[in-house]
Amino acid sequence: MGSPADAEQRGHTRELAGLLDAEAVRNIALSWVDNAGIARAKAIPAARLAHAARRGVGMSPVFDVFTSEDAITASDHLGGPSGDLRLFPDLDRITVLAAQPGWAWAPADRYDQEGAPHPACQRQFARAMAERATAAGIDVRMGFETEWVVTRAPKGHDPGEDDAYQPLDYPCTGPAYGMSRIVELSDYLRDVTEALTLQGIDVHQIHPEYAPGQFEVSCAPGDPVRAADDAVLVRETVRAVSVRHGLRASFAPSVVAGQVGNGCHLHFSLNRDGKSLHRTPNAPWGLAPDAVAFLGGVFAALPALLAVGCPSPASYLRLQPSHWAGVYQCWGIENREAALRLIPGAPDDPDGGSAELKTFDGAANPYLAVGAVIAAGLHGIETGAQLPAPETDDPGTLGVRERARRGILRLPATLTEAADRFEKSAPLHEAMGKVLHGAVLAVRRAEEARFADVDAEELAAATRWRW
Ligand code: GLU
Ligand code: MG
Repeated sequence: MGSPADAEQRGHTRELAGLLDAEAVRNIALSWVDNAGIARAKAIPAARLAHAARRGVGMSPVFDVFTSEDAITASDHLGGPSGDLRLFPDLDRITVLAAQPGWAWAPADRYDQEGAPHPACQRQFARAMAERATAAGIDVRMGFETEWVVTRAPKGHDPGEDDAYQPLDYPCTGPAYGMSRIVELSDYLRDVTEALTLQGIDVHQIHPEYAPGQFEVSCAPGDPVRAADDAVLVRETVRAVSVRHGLRASFAPSVVAGQVGNGCHLHFSLNRDGKSLHRTPNAPWGLAPDAVAFLGGVFAALPALLAVGCPSPASYLRLQPSHWAGVYQCWGIENREAALRLIPGAPDDPDGGSAELKTFDGAANPYLAVGAVIAAGLHGIETGAQLPAPETDDPGTLGVRERARRGILRLPATLTEAADRFEKSAPLHEAMGKVLHGAVLAVRRAEEARFADVDAEELAAATRWRW
């Protein structure tokens, strides 16, 4: 954990320096994720680790109001050229990078120069929410699915050139979920899996997805902060392996307007006293009352949560009915068109059972995502939230009248609508605090304004390579 060093930590950094030296690590990248979902970084020579652990590494708080295009906005509390923060590497999470020889990576927590936590530090927000759950007796396990589209990196491409006019060159042509895609890219997919495994990520699956050139990797769940760290590490590793294969990976919500996009679904399961709350005998759907209330809280907060989990105007290009992206406010057992999918798991697995929030995408800051979902779930427990009847159909195929009869609402179809709901969400405002909540809202408003008059193709092209 990043905070001013004590004697124990000094011993820890000495030991770590020895380990990094043995692995020939020369540089360490310290990353954190901004409110637009971009992982920003500072790198240090490995020899500076002890110094960085003690004093931190400087970085401006203005990045809290950066947009996905690196434009700068302002909130009531943040913005402008003055001030500085300290990035403290989480020494427990330093990872030697398998696809970037000589490099290691560590996620960073952000503090002010006096050593107080920065109120807009997204990673500390995630940790605070996980601790809040623990204090309420709930142990939350989480994990993200990472989807991406891989293309051939254009040769001799001037990065200044307009990407809108670069046709995408897919390195595989096989059908959706087709074995032929695995054959075409077997070296690449093996290298992605191997790099992740060497980095301590427990890969569960890697497979072709629906859209051209699209793949997915899913990994073991962990505590919420670990899940968010893993999401960053998985993505940057896929990117690094892609570069080494002359490929380019897009994690954008909408790579090509009108096609199935990249989701970044958030899976979570709930335990109390070491027992799964998804395995309660004789309870509806096997869910303990606290699990129903937690899911009910997440369900009720979905419209506001979209501003966290679907943070770009491009997110709403992806959110089309009948695209497995969960655009209706309904839940269902194994229903891939419900925003909240309940996964009962194998009946003989005592730890089985989880839920999947399908609507979130890869532009989301994973720390904000885990923190906001926990905040909404705990609010559900505090208020005794309930779930409506589960949905088995694809709401997109029902008529307007039938949806209305079943009480199924469309989730926000624009970022503006989601941001309006987020602005008014008392539980999210309380959980994030005014500085973080205000910064997130300012960035959403700036992205809305920037892309207000941009058509779908231009929007997808402008955001395709940002995350
Ligand atoms: N690519 C889909 C999405 O946009 C999800 C496909 C799946 O269910 O894995 O979220
Ligand atoms: Mg998928």
